[in-house]
Amino acid sequence: MDTKIVLEDVCKDYGNKRALNHIDLTIESGMFGLLGPNGAGKTTMMKVLTSLLPKTSGKITMCGIPIEKSKEIRSMVGYLPQEFSMYGTMSVYEGMDYLAVLSGIQKGQRRERIMELLKKVNLDDCAKKKIKALSGGMKRRMGIAQALIHNPRVLIVDEPTAGLDPEERVRFRNLLCEVAQERIVLLSTHIVGDIEATCEKIAILKEGNLLYDGTVTQLLEGAREVIFQAEVSRIELEKVKSHYFVTGMVSQGQKVQIRFIAEDRQWLPFLNAEKCAPNVEDAYLYFIHKKEMR
Ligand code: ADP
Repeated sequence: MDTKIVLEDVCKDYGNKRALNHIDLTIESGMFGLLGPNGAGKTTMMKVLTSLLPKTSGKITMCGIPIEKSKEIRSMVGYLPQEFSMYGTMSVYEGMDYLAVLSGIQKGQRRERIMELLKKVNLDDCAKKKIKALSGGMKRRMGIAQALIHNPRVLIVDEPTAGLDPEERVRFRNLLCEVAQERIVLLSTHIVGDIEATCEKIAILKEGNLLYDGTVTQLLEGAREVIFQAEVSRIELEKVKSHYFVTGMVSQGQKVQIRFIAEDRQWLPFLNAEKCAPNVEDAYLYFIHKKEMR
């Protein structure tokens, strides 16, 4: 059976509000990043794919199974929502055991499975620790362990690194990469760095529309001709900002080193600007703002 998720012409409405607008997308094995600003429809798409929310129209299959078969879909999917909470007074082991019971794992297999998962997420030393005593990063890692308890072929993780410190973020991203060797991991984020470090294929959503679907390399290629850098005074900076979209700036004494998106070249000669290779953040911002700039 193919390990892939296929969405064909999928719409999701909340009353009059369209949250997903005619989405066609195929998600294959490995890490897949879903990127977009707040309100883009990322959480909605993830909830539809876990079968927690019904789509309004279109067709979705997961590993060949139609999304409407929610029992089969749920046995195939592990989900770590944005707000993952568990009973804080339980120990890590008790919390995992409770979820293992709910997942229907037999008593004889539970201990081994739980310890294997805690080891995978590097929490095996914390089995007896109360959940409420875990750090933010540890809670997120426990969230992954609980989502993997029934060994799902698809793992869906919503905004997993928000609120984590840089070291915890890297550790968490590495864990997801390891997990993705055996399955589909769909990761949503508005933090471009998370995607850059881990995902080969990405999709960008904005206001329910799919703006981009492809590899990170193609995304960079798409912005190759429009990213420029220049050193400007603070007065010039205000003029640049009124005409172009500035993606980065570093103060250097009286001057400011800037990177910006320039689809038209009108002001470039005055700024002594030179073209530069886009980074993923530049390219993402280009796709997000492209239409508005025209
Ligand atoms: P994201 O996860 O990318 O921030 P969401 O999927 O949460 O985006 O939201 C997409 C859009 O749908 C937003 O405009 C949001 O306000 C709207 N929305 C989300 N959930 C509901 C709901 N339960 N009822 C009405 N509108 C909703």
